Amino acid sequence: MRLAFSSEDEAFRAEVRAFLVAELPPEIARREAMGFHNKRATVHPWQQKLHARGWAAPNWPAEFGGTGWSSIQRYIFELECGLANAPEYSLIAMSMAGPVLCRFGSSALRHEFLEPMLRGDYWFCQGFSEPQAGSDLASLRTRAVRDGDDYVITGQKIWTTDAHMADYMICLARTDTEVKPQAGLSMIIMPMDAPGVTVRPIDTIDGDAHVNEVFIEDVRVPAHYLIGDPNSGWAQAKFLLGHERTHNAYLGMLRRYLSRIPQLIDGETGRGLPELEAKEYRRRHARLAIDVDALEWSVLRVLAGTEGPALGAAASAISIRGAAYLLRAADLEMAILGPQVVPRFAPGDMGVLAGGAPPAAAGRTTQYLYWWAATIFGGSDEIQRNIIWSTMFR
Ligand SMILES: Cc1cc2nc3c(=O)[nH]c(=O)nc-3n(C[C@H](O)[C@H](O)[C@H](O)COP(=O)(O)OP(=O)(O)OC[C@H]3O[C@@H](n4cnc5c(N)ncnc54)[C@H](O)[C@@H]3O)c2cc1C
Repeated sequence: MRLAFSSEDEAFRAEVRAFLVAELPPEIARREAMGFHNKRATVHPWQQKLHARGWAAPNWPAEFGGTGWSSIQRYIFELECGLANAPEYSLIAMSMAGPVLCRFGSSALRHEFLEPMLRGDYWFCQGFSEPQAGSDLASLRTRAVRDGDDYVITGQKIWTTDAHMADYMICLARTDTEVKPQAGLSMIIMPMDAPGVTVRPIDTIDGDAHVNEVFIEDVRVPAHYLIGDPNSGWAQAKFLLGHERTHNAYLGMLRRYLSRIPQLIDGETGRGLPELEAKEYRRRHARLAIDVDALEWSVLRVLAGTEGPALGAAASAISIRGAAYLLRAADLEMAILGPQVVPRFAPGDMGVLAGGAPPAAAGRTTQYLYWWAATIFGGSDEIQRNIIWSTMFR
């Protein structure tokens, strides 16, 4: 087995690197490296630069404005963006809703949505999960009922990432109650400013509010906002989650951690970190680097593979590993920085947080806490293990 990129792929990598050096605004890269959750306005200039270069949508077919890259080129692009601290622009729009519209959307929907999405004018959220329907997604209760030229949607979504700054939701709703649960679902584009939509933020342990509850009360949506045929939502949802799962190796982010951890150890050694301790951190870094190499090879094998049940199981295994390694990387950074990452009370005033951690260290705490969510979203580790079992061993 030959585990090296072709000379064409290496040339492509050099082209991507040169573009990132020339075009990625340093302030955006600095915020991303520190671990801020991206706000829409902050990252919009970056999406415009990508659009100007024709690189806004690596995951779309070329005929709809995508790059037409091979899977290896897409992978290289993701890796280099990760290393350069380039943020993702509306992951849901560019990597989920966009590919779904390209594959299943009517020509009217493609015409209305794809070009503004490429420009970065539309931000999307994904309305799948509900209070009683997460892992068991097919049991969702949000209803969409046809009424003349509209669908009327009623229900509740939860954990909706970015709903507070999205223009549209790709909403999974029940359009037929008489058939088995999977067969009665449809995917509909729902404007977030429509009367009857209420977004309530959920505070998360990482100190941010990037997920939300969304209450949907008799919301009227034009019937042509339905994607594909009525009751075909389950196939579209599976297609969309497939995109999420391959993304969940997080190799760009892992390579970013691996490249900066040695500098972090050196910096702390300069500030008095005992050499014996530094040695232990270097050992943990080396161990993680080996595991990430192995993960990368698995991803490349999946990218080179053809469709089949083993591929689905491999994507699930990769998702489990990706989340676990992110947590290891973030945990290692926290250990190296030690007490710097802990927020402290001001002396003499136990009611007021002194800030304690410098912003860079605080960002690391935030990231560490956030990565626990990677073991849940897009299908929890347990659900991924169920998939591996049912496709490979049953
Ligand atoms: C940060 C974050 C962002 C998210 N963003 C979005 C979003 O944008 N849009 C969206 O639609 N959803 C989003 N989600 C929701 C996510 O998809 C669900 O949380 C996930 O599918 C799990 O569903 P649940 O929370 O209802 O937990 P449950 O399904 O109730 O699961 C609870 C526990 O039981 C386990 N479990 C459940 N069923 C089984 C089983 N059959 N076998 C073994 N173990 C099982 C699970 O693994 C879990 O540990 C997000 C979640 C998080 C944490």
